[in-house]
Amino acid sequence: AKGAGKNQWRRYQSHLHDVMVQRLELRSALDHAVNEGHFLLQYQPIVDLETDEAVGFEALVRWHHPSRGVIAPDQFIEVAEESGLIVPMGRWVLDQALHTVAQWRRILPRARQPYVSVNVSVRQFRQQGFVDQVRASLDYAGVPPQALMLEITETLLMGDDEQIWADLAVLQDLGVRIAIDDFGTGYSSLSYLRQRPIDVLKIDKTFIDDMIGSAQQHALVAGIVSLAQTLNLTVVAEGIEDATHRQMLAQLGCPLGQGYYYSAPLDPTEALAWLRAPMPL
Ligand code: C2E
Ligand code: CA
Ligand code: CA
Ligand code: CA
Repeated sequence: AKGAGKNQWRRYQSHLHDVMVQRLELRSALDHAVNEGHFLLQYQPIVDLETDEAVGFEALVRWHHPSRGVIAPDQFIEVAEESGLIVPMGRWVLDQALHTVAQWRRILPRARQPYVSVNVSVRQFRQQGFVDQVRASLDYAGVPPQALMLEITETLLMGDDEQIWADLAVLQDLGVRIAIDDFGTGYSSLSYLRQRPIDVLKIDKTFIDDMIGSAQQHALVAGIVSLAQTLNLTVVAEGIEDATHRQMLAQLGCPLGQGYYYSAPLDPTEALAWLRAPMPL
């Protein structure tokens, strides 16, 4: 029995070793990808639930690996954050997204010009000069601040870091929209919603998933929508996968949504086509 335990321990150690080697490999491959610019962005429409027209697009990063193909962000964002590579990668994402939205805005009539919504990680936000970087990127792309929304997860705000709130206030004053991403999953106190510079709540997909089957879940989403109305915030429901979700959310007065029902994330040219002719169903 003692021998068996020892074997198990050895297996465990060798497993740990493999995991560490894999992470190191991932990290160095990612480092290379950042230097070579091996990323691409896809854009998922954020849709007005009454008119079914896109008001904006969320920019979602993918790693275009030379031999392994296109890699989804859940495979590398965590390592990018730990290693600090999220900072140069995030800068690229912001510039690329603004460049693309600038092109769309030049082509489209004013009433249909979309904004672009960019995910920003904690690490990026804590960088010295982040606000100046955003300002410079807007200038360089030649788009107004109203063309940009920043998505920040609730957990970023839990530390109650006053510097972060001050930076967000500056960006909001400029006209950049501030969204709380994955709203409802961070277990934070709701009191911050009242005093803080926030424009949009994005209700996490997990809440939308169970809406159809569970009256409780439905009530919870209804509660978030009405809370947002009271506080004068806009709401985006994530993960709308079918007509029932859409119908229920529209009935609750949820103004905006995104999800596979409308469209998966698209390449820039497909996104532009979608803007011109929404819902190719
Ligand atoms: P997120 O910000 O919550 O993004 C929404 C995710 O849900 C996206 O996955 C999107 O493709 C997926 N999605 C959208 N509609 C549906 C639907 O109807 N059903 C289902 N099952 N999924 C849907 P994706 O593109 O794999 O991104 C995963 C996460 O990676 C994002 O979650 C975000 O947290 C992170 N991420 C993506 N791009 C960036 C980036 O540029 N910077 C940072 N820091 N994080 C990013
Ligand atoms: Ca997001
Ligand atoms: Ca989200
Ligand atoms: Ca999410």
